[in-house]
Amino acid sequence: MATQSQPDWQRRVHTIRGIMGCCHVLTDDDGAVLLDTGLIGEPWFIRRCLRRLGLGPKSVRAILLTHGHLDHAGNLAWAKAWCGASVYAHPLEQAHIDGVYPYRGVNRWCGRLERTGRRLMGVGRAVPIDVMLNEGDALPFWGGLRVVHLPGHTLGHCGFYSTKHDVLFSGDLFASYFFNVHLPPPILNSAPALIPASLEKVRRLNPRFIVPQHYDMLDGELHRARFDLLLRKLKRRWSKPVTL
Ligand SMILES: [Zn+2]
Ligand SMILES: [Zn+2]
Repeated sequence: MATQSQPDWQRRVHTIRGIMGCCHVLTDDDGAVLLDTGLIGEPWFIRRCLRRLGLGPKSVRAILLTHGHLDHAGNLAWAKAWCGASVYAHPLEQAHIDGVYPYRGVNRWCGRLERTGRRLMGVGRAVPIDVMLNEGDALPFWGGLRVVHLPGHTLGHCGFYSTKHDVLFSGDLFASYFFNVHLPPPILNSAPALIPASLEKVRRLNPRFIVPQHYDMLDGELHRARFDLLLRKLKRRWSKPVTL
């Protein structure tokens, strides 16, 4: 929610709230960028958001994906057809986008949920990634965004860091709600052993603001504070936190 004291960048982050999480429209003088595409209902909200800003589909310069889970990429085929912008994602997310990722162990539940979602909602059609992202890539959007590879939730899970605004869009590294900041549930994590290193990477990056994709209110300072709280909680919980 907008407040008087919110930093300027936050006025250019538009939250599209879906049934499971959020995706975002990032705007600046050059146009708009979609950060994830949501699951169901979001196309209407994305179109309305752009309309209110006086923008059309041709203003969308890129579709950035944090990862290919259905609640983030479910509308990807729609978004690509609607605006024609290129899809940017880590190559390891292609199997998720296409619904063919070989989930294993407890993570199979994630695959079952996604298959059910695809069947019931008719979303999640296969879409090729146009531009493969890798750690450190510099993207010419929203004043410059740097790709921060944060594997663990999925193998190709990425955040996007704006040096200009010192804000990290952290994807599903953690979820941030009032009294409940937490890692994604184990059934949703494909490579949980990699999560501690990704958390440490963000701690070292030390962004002033963080915006996850599952949260209650848009407040980058609050989510950064909750991230620190989560690290303290995990440090107590994990027997060998090593660097955390
Ligand atoms: Zn996810
Ligand atoms: Zn998610």
